[in-house]
Amino acid sequence: MSSKKILIVEDDADVRLGYQVLLKANHYDTFFAADSSAAVSEARKQQPDLIILDLGLPAGDGFIVLERFRGNMNLAVIPVIVVSARDLQGNKERALKAGAKAFLQKPWNDNELLELISELLGQPNIVYLATGKLHPGEP
Ligand code: CA
Repeated sequence: MSSKKILIVEDDADVRLGYQVLLKANHYDTFFAADSSAAVSEARKQQPDLIILDLGLPAGDGFIVLERFRGNMNLAVIPVIVVSARDLQGNKERALKAGAKAFLQKPWNDNELLELISELLGQPNIVYLATGKLHPGEP
């Protein structure tokens, strides 16, 4: 079985490295983009199985990226985990409404992220929330 491809959209190099080490150790192939336009071009190029998207990006925030993914037939089907340090309730709702499958608040822990990833890759139609717990009844 080939490795699943994960695109990480994150402008902080240290955080990118953290994702890389963790995800590589768990046998995922990782690709990176540091801003919103690179996010779209990398997603087109790599056709990842999953996208981890930081909300706070230079030159257009993560919501712009979500919008662009949504407007592209091939990209709209890829599950997106939105990650944000901004703990405003509005961000989570806005991200889920904009098409994200899950919202993870920084600082997340490794197990929480890995659990979310494997569940989303296995069951792309189920929505997860920041806790990583399943909420089957929610849209
Ligand atoms: Ca950031």
